[in-house]
Amino acid sequence: MLPTTATASTPPPAPAPAPAPGEPHAALFLALGYMRLPDLLACWRVCRLLGEAVAGDPLLWRRVTVEPPLSKRLTDDALLKLTARAEGTLRSLHLLGCSLVSDAGLLRVVERNPSVTELYVPKCTGLTGDGVVKIVQLLDEQNGNTNRLRLHGISRMTKHHLDIINSLMCKRNPQVKEDGRPLFYNHRVHEMLNTNDERPIDVDVCPMCKNVRLVFDCTRDDCRKAEYSWCQGWWCRGCLFCVARCENCGGCISSEDLSDACLACSDFMCLACWLTFPKCSTCNRPYCERHGHLMVPLSLPGQFSCHHCMELNSSLERQEEGY
Ligand SMILES: [Zn+2]
Ligand SMILES: [Zn+2]
Ligand SMILES: [Zn+2]
Ligand SMILES: [Zn+2]
Ligand SMILES: [Zn+2]
Repeated sequence: MLPTTATASTPPPAPAPAPAPGEPHAALFLALGYMRLPDLLACWRVCRLLGEAVAGDPLLWRRVTVEPPLSKRLTDDALLKLTARAEGTLRSLHLLGCSLVSDAGLLRVVERNPSVTELYVPKCTGLTGDGVVKIVQLLDEQNGNTNRLRLHGISRMTKHHLDIINSLMCKRNPQVKEDGRPLFYNHRVHEMLNTNDERPIDVDVCPMCKNVRLVFDCTRDDCRKAEYSWCQGWWCRGCLFCVARCENCGGCISSEDLSDACLACSDFMCLACWLTFPKCSTCNRPYCERHGHLMVPLSLPGQFSCHHCMELNSSLERQEEGY
């Protein structure tokens, strides 16, 4: 199909010159800007020309994302080498579960890349609250433009740390302070980067346990409008350790529902959602959507057995065969 701007008088674009034998196609160079880190690193080793294109273009390294399984092997030195490719122009650094990266290692990267505006370090368990405060302070001194932080799963992060980080972020970005957008629970919380939304900072102080974690708002309007609140928010706003959330609707779950609405996986569901899900023919427990693949279909249409009942069944059969 022709591009929409093309007209009858527009001459057709000249075909790209054919690459010399053994040389990569020109289109491959254009595609480099859209590649994820593992593909970029693979291209580096394919041939000299591609390797030079990858290593010599700082624009390709302005946004670096390290995700599993690579993240488990990323050391401070490797991170420094990787980000050095941006030649000081790094803008966005996403380190997802990079447990070997330390406060000192990340600080060195930020020192050499003063224009970082987006820093995602969820579940980087080698970082600490003190270290992250130092890094955000340095970014503030260097550019003051940091507008997106993802910090959940960092050890020893306290309200004190979060207050300092919030005040630094608010100083030059007043909209940060006014950000009151709710965060609703959904199954993506189980992924490494679950809050890829517009909020400036992902974590908050849980009104119940006072720990710095992902704090979820209730999806039920009634709950959010309730006048009764025994903490700063409504009564069911809290982290996942304090408030059980329905895997399906993200609403809070009453203690009665917790005991009545059992699932075949280890998640929770409110009774209203539980009633709508198909159940195991033997134990009458449903799976949540995320674990639906564990259903074992039975010969009768629409019926299934959960993996617990299947295992129990086969172990009983083995015992019977043993007698
Ligand atoms: Zn809590
Ligand atoms: Zn529900
Ligand atoms: Zn609620
Ligand atoms: Zn079952
Ligand atoms: Zn589940």
